[in-house]
Amino acid sequence: MAANPEKQLRFLMVDDDKAIAETHAALLEKAGHQVTVMTSPKEALDQMATLAPDCIISDLMMPELDGLEFFQKVRKINLKQQPVFIVFTSKVFEFDRRRAFEMGVDGYLTKPAHPETFVSDLLEIINKEMIIQFWGVRGTLPVPGENSVIYGGNTNCVTLSLAKKHFFIFDAGTGIKKLSNHLLKQKAFPLSAKIFISHPHYDHINGIPFFVPLYMKGNEFEFLGAPAGEIKIEKIISDQMDSIYFPITVKEFAAKISYRDLAEETFNIDDIQIQTQLLNHPGKCLGYRIQYNNQIFCYITDHELYMEDVPYYNQFDVDRLIHFIQGADVLVMDSTYTDSEYAQKIGWGHSSVNRVADIADKAKVKLLCLYHHDPDQFDKDIKFKLEEATEILESRQSKTRCIAPREGEKIILSAPKSTV
Ligand SMILES: [Zn+2]
Ligand SMILES: [Zn+2]
Repeated sequence: MAANPEKQLRFLMVDDDKAIAETHAALLEKAGHQVTVMTSPKEALDQMATLAPDCIISDLMMPELDGLEFFQKVRKINLKQQPVFIVFTSKVFEFDRRRAFEMGVDGYLTKPAHPETFVSDLLEIINKEMIIQFWGVRGTLPVPGENSVIYGGNTNCVTLSLAKKHFFIFDAGTGIKKLSNHLLKQKAFPLSAKIFISHPHYDHINGIPFFVPLYMKGNEFEFLGAPAGEIKIEKIISDQMDSIYFPITVKEFAAKISYRDLAEETFNIDDIQIQTQLLNHPGKCLGYRIQYNNQIFCYITDHELYMEDVPYYNQFDVDRLIHFIQGADVLVMDSTYTDSEYAQKIGWGHSSVNRVADIADKAKVKLLCLYHHDPDQFDKDIKFKLEEATEILESRQSKTRCIAPREGEKIILSAPKSTV
């Protein structure tokens, strides 16, 4: 059902509003694709075999046939290759969106589309893309200033967008403010997202009160994370916005909010598999492994990997983590210290770049992203850690590539070529 990202695609736009269809068709044509515009879904069904589109973009509310009925009829036609089916509608209700996905459509975009992103949004769905974006890469404390201009000074926040279908946020340090500004600028609402919290240390949650979409009616969020003993994730989130610490409480959130306590477990959200593993850090801290369409993303922070000469070193724990991150396309990993810094910080709950490169190589990770940098490190120190990790990997002729992502940096993973 997915198409090759480089090739010219055949689109079929079905919309009773001809003017809207033609405006958007022009954007696709400008990007080098072929588009047929039809105002009648019945006629489109009659000509489906001849048109053989790679992708159908369909309105929902059409007089002769509802968009989802049209979708079901398309799927019953015996075609060589079933087209990707994307709903394009002015219905912004979460109910309609969910129902469309439950019925099996591949994507749901709302009108009006942004002309600058319309084509890339469609390709994100067609190519079943996983888009990872970094909004804050620092650990422990935000560090603005002249020594953080390359990598940025905000604390932990990474997003994962899955084929425009699901939006996951990992941690809510001060980087989430930057994400908030971005979403407001894009007018990306209504928004439905899961917010995965690794653990409730300040640098992973203290951006929450500044995430504006939480205060907007129509949005939907679920916070997921490990409870701290008896204290559930709902209380963990609401207590840090108690009026003693911050003048606005969670009662002011206008979005629909839910909470989910997690243990070490495996569960699914639609066709996405989520696995969690407890990490070696003070209190309960969870690492995440997300698998979608044979692509794997792992988020592991905060975690201490002991050096082999440290008395606490435990091979069982190391093997368990290697198994958890095995074969990841992208691993975002706590690499707080240089090796020499680590010697002074044993037992602080964070890892050195040497150990991180070692396990990423052993787990056959494709791309290692150094993350959660110490607040006392300058840009040049992060560069140095990247050099250290790269040297280790090259000396082993490892296939693992290593980067130190900057604030705002984006990684795009497309569906594996073998499935297209
Ligand atoms: Zn941290
Ligand atoms: Zn921590």
